Amino acid sequence: MKKICLIIGHGGKDTGAVNPNNGYTELKYNSELVPKIVQKLQGQYEILLENRGNNSIEDIAKINSFNPEIIISFHCNDSEDDKGTGTEAIYYPGSTKGKELATIVSKNVSEALGLKNRGAKTPWQNRGMGLLQRTKAPCIISEGFFIDNDSDLKAGLDKMDNYVAAIVKSVHEYLGDSSEGTEPEQPEKPDTKIYLVQGNKTIGEIDGTIKLY
Ligand SMILES: [Zn+2]
Repeated sequence: MKKICLIIGHGGKDTGAVNPNNGYTELKYNSELVPKIVQKLQGQYEILLENRGNNSIEDIAKINSFNPEIIISFHCNDSEDDKGTGTEAIYYPGSTKGKELATIVSKNVSEALGLKNRGAKTPWQNRGMGLLQRTKAPCIISEGFFIDNDSDLKAGLDKMDNYVAAIVKSVHEYLGDSSEGTEPEQPEKPDTKIYLVQGNKTIGEIDGTIKLY
């Protein structure tokens, strides 16, 4: 089973960006979003769900030793004037695979939320570089919408299920997996025959009826 790592951005007392009108935070939004994604992908992938808690950065050693195919960290964007809008995904500068994953995610999430696709980008003011630089697998930061912009946040909240589906689709698309066959394989039918044992000798069996040898 392929492995993927999903990260709920920020943690503990660091809630990330906040909507100035209703106090909604990045941490709150992504704490609702990411478990829904896990629910959809578990069974098809082995998933490491990571959150930094009160630490300044995610547990990079744990993520690298898990050895995932991809890492997606979930944040929300914010802007100086609270008027920024749209979807983007951040990748490590020079990473071809990271850029490919970011391009797929930004396109699918923007369509799912009905927002402008700002596309794949490299970090602005080195934001998120600690994670992007130190992780071995292709790693991106999904900035689905601007949390400080009321209409962007409304799209994020109203269409959270679409966001979930867009990430599921993106993971399948990038890893070349079919969305079919997500049901785990049924285990072999267990042997329901019961043997009658006396001492160390099998003296009969029950398989619908009792049969004594
Ligand atoms: Zn953030």
